[in-house]
Amino acid sequence: MDKIKLGISSCLLGENVRYDGRHKFDQCLKDTLGELVEWIGVCPEVECGLGVPREAMYLTDSPESPRLITKITNIDHTDKMLKWAGARLEQLEKEKLAGFIFKSGSPSCGLKEVLSEKRTGIFAKKFIAHFKLMPVEDSDSLRDDKIREKFVKKTHAFRKASSSS
Ligand code: SF4
Repeated sequence: MDKIKLGISSCLLGENVRYDGRHKFDQCLKDTLGELVEWIGVCPEVECGLGVPREAMYLTDSPESPRLITKITNIDHTDKMLKWAGARLEQLEKEKLAGFIFKSGSPSCGLKEVLSEKRTGIFAKKFIAHFKLMPVEDSDSLRDDKIREKFVKKTHAFRKASSSS
């Protein structure tokens, strides 16, 4: 069977792109999906030019219109991130992704909860607004077998629907 093409937060693949120069390799994803998937890694913070290592960030202002701010020096990277994201999302359209897996808890990639608040990371928010029907899930949720199976089914259905339209 053809591999399914999924976007993923790069740190989950083991790339050393986190603010502290480390990764968040996800063994569970590798063991369960590795053989079935062609991964397209995206690290919004590195790709928009923030570098490694970098200052950790948090989200502030309303969940509808969040700002991405560095924790110590209070630099606002929102506009830089959103400008980069607009162009990157257009590039990703060409990849014909069947879904995207976001790193849980990140102010850029978090999908459901960031720093114990019900918030969506700034890149994840722009991604789901752009690819409205594409299946997305966060890395922590995919440790649950049922959620993972459901997500995989949705990605196959999305790919089928996309290729016939
Ligand atoms: S969570 Fe997202 S922004 Fe943070 S290191 Fe991983 S890929 Fe990069």
